[in-house]
Amino acid sequence: MIGIRVHFDEPAGRRACRYCGGALPPGKRADALDCSPDHRTRYHRERVAAEAADARRDKSEADIRAELAERRP
Ligand SMILES: [Zn+2]
Repeated sequence: MIGIRVHFDEPAGRRACRYCGGALPPGKRADALDCSPDHRTRYHRERVAAEAADARRDKSEADIRAELAERRP
């Protein structure tokens, strides 16, 4: 998991959205991390995809061969 350091003592307008890096619009909650619900969704969707890609990458070649051998009739 990627750690994100957020300074909550900064007003929302001066902090950056964790998805696009743009400034959070003024009036957002003090603990807001994203500039819009769309960017919140995209951030989480891409993080899940990245973790799945990491899991596939961590599989060793022996694991993949064993898996393929099981599938053969
Ligand atoms: Zn954004």
